[in-house]
Amino acid sequence: MRKMTPILAAAAVMAASTSCSHNTVQTAPDQQAAVPATPVAPPQSSPPPDAPAPAGAAGDVLLAEWSGPHGGVPAFDRMDLAAMKPALEAGMAQNLAEIDAIVANPEPPTFENTILAMERAGRPLGRAFTYWGIWSGNLSTPEFRKIQTEMAPRLSAFNSKITQNDKLFARVRAVRDSPETARRPPAERRLVQLVYDGFARNGATLEGAAKERYAAINERLAELHTKFANNVLADEEGYTLFLDASQLGGLPDSFKDGAAALAKERGQEGKYAVANTRSSIDPFLVYSTDRALREKVWRTFYSRGDNGDEHDNNAVIAEILKLRDERVGLLGYDSYAQWRLEDRMAKTPERAMALMEAVWPAALARVRQEVADMQAVADAEGAGITIEPWDYRHYAEKVRKAKYDLDSDEVKQYLQLDKLRDAMFHVAGELFGFRFTPVPEGSVPVYHPDVRVWEVTSKAGGEHVGYWYLDPFARPGKRSGAWASSYRGHETFDGLQTVLASNNSNFIKGAPGEPVLMSWDDAETYFHEFGHALHALSSNVAYPTLNGGVRDYTEFQSQLLERWLLTAPVISGYLVHSKTGEPIPPELVAKIKKAATFNQGFDTTEYLASALMDLRYHTVDPTGIDPDAFEREQLAKLGMPREIVMRHRSPQFTHVFSGEGYSAGYYGYLWADVLTSDAAEAFSEAPGGFYDATVAKRLVDSLFAPRNSVDPADAYRSFRGRDAKIDALMRYRGFPVPH
Ligand SMILES: [Zn+2]
Repeated sequence: MRKMTPILAAAAVMAASTSCSHNTVQTAPDQQAAVPATPVAPPQSSPPPDAPAPAGAAGDVLLAEWSGPHGGVPAFDRMDLAAMKPALEAGMAQNLAEIDAIVANPEPPTFENTILAMERAGRPLGRAFTYWGIWSGNLSTPEFRKIQTEMAPRLSAFNSKITQNDKLFARVRAVRDSPETARRPPAERRLVQLVYDGFARNGATLEGAAKERYAAINERLAELHTKFANNVLADEEGYTLFLDASQLGGLPDSFKDGAAALAKERGQEGKYAVANTRSSIDPFLVYSTDRALREKVWRTFYSRGDNGDEHDNNAVIAEILKLRDERVGLLGYDSYAQWRLEDRMAKTPERAMALMEAVWPAALARVRQEVADMQAVADAEGAGITIEPWDYRHYAEKVRKAKYDLDSDEVKQYLQLDKLRDAMFHVAGELFGFRFTPVPEGSVPVYHPDVRVWEVTSKAGGEHVGYWYLDPFARPGKRSGAWASSYRGHETFDGLQTVLASNNSNFIKGAPGEPVLMSWDDAETYFHEFGHALHALSSNVAYPTLNGGVRDYTEFQSQLLERWLLTAPVISGYLVHSKTGEPIPPELVAKIKKAATFNQGFDTTEYLASALMDLRYHTVDPTGIDPDAFEREQLAKLGMPREIVMRHRSPQFTHVFSGEGYSAGYYGYLWADVLTSDAAEAFSEAPGGFYDATVAKRLVDSLFAPRNSVDPADAYRSFRGRDAKIDALMRYRGFPVPH
């Protein structure tokens, strides 16, 4: 589970708040799936609006309570990087003193003096982390990165001081086991359990030799995870293919320009470099007409970490699996996957496995069709080849052009940044009852002139809900991609704290007065990230920890919102041509919908092969495992098509072996996708369609507002009246629905 108590928030915030790269199987995973429960000060002790920060030590500007409207807003206009380190140091010291006071309390442990005291602790540090998140995501500089490197081990040591505090855990355990807790409302019982699990699932219940062994395993695992990641990186950086001008057949100019620049950077000016990374090899495999080169590039990329040299990861995997299994054995679990999934929505490896196995045969059947289509193209060209893995992307592109051709420049004319934002506001108004109003300039501080802020109020009663910050444009020092993060989460236990949510992306600014246009993928991402913001803004929970996320569930809300992009009011009111103002024509909409099922056999199969392998590795007895042989045997058992390779082969599967964020959890993308499709059908079947007021209310009440105060499986049942079924997902991907 994610450790969501404020005192444990440091690790969460170090991963740059909520980050998100859009979509399921095509992109790298979110590092962080949910909004951290941002610690904040109770409003009654806030200074009056516009009060200056209290004078004192150097870090004070970043630790100070927030002033301004509605419980205060971050002082983004007074950020001072020189204050970062002292602020963290003072914040950590203060937080540890709060923990000491909880532990030293002579009264017997209670919900109030232990759990609530923990929820309340670490507020100043939490505020410092809000600024930290801005510097790491939106305004990074070499100076900040130096501070980051220096502070990372100290923050990690700080976290350990709390998670390994035996006396603190003894109090938490006493509260969890007390009859008084059993009589509390469900959300409070869940809070106690989540706090307890944050300790117990990570070894706090162990004593003596077992405890020592547990710590030793963790230390060794940390080394192995880093080694795994470094080996993959070494093979990505160590193999660069340099081409001359005669070897560029089929490659687009944009690729050639990038390759020429990279070759120059690597000391081979005049040549063209293909880096051994996914962003380089993907377009190369699509466009290069030189089949021998495609094979070379393909083999090099899928051999990362598997070359039998000093960067080979097979022995590293074997040791990681053995240690993970031993570690959860100390806690009494049968397998690592059993431990990992216990607090996920799926709950057991068997359920996650059953979902994947239900989709797998349809994906394989689709691959056979795709290969047949591609073989027909190759035969018609007189290529005289049999489709091999290094041909798949190349011929798939030819099939796409012939069967699904979509002119991306034409689509772009209907996707204007400002119009899409207004479309999102419209959807939020209809479904969530929110109104977005721009704040008067200067009334809410921002950290960059590009950032704009809206006040969110209830359409019905006009009550203040929160603020929404939008940072839309690319600039140096800003991380790539798109993400959502919250500066403050909803809570009520010490008085109402309203939400401060943000969306961040990397659109390229247009010429003054010209609309900013975007691709279809970017438009989906824009809606996706806004879904995360709406999830934060809808929260009705009382305690910070209950704002936390569950990894196979938190992408569901955001994925679902993407489905409103092609609803009638959005099409007619907002997807309008940048010059003529005409709505997007129905033929173009039909083409977009059809293109969504293109190459689903390939996408689903390469993803599922990795996800299935991840779960199998973490459910078998790893004694004496040889990953190379294991991978081959399992793929043979699955009937893996010879034309496709796992998206992440074992020796390069960094999601799973360079840390534990996605270990035994790669299935989560498909899990969230099942929920998304099933919930979308609840709307399409309703009398009012995607704007049906009854279904919308149930959606907000059951699946958005409760955050993690309700078990996600129970929440889903209260929305749909049953568990999610895979049928809707199968239809959406263009697969036959199994009986
Ligand atoms: Zn997301």
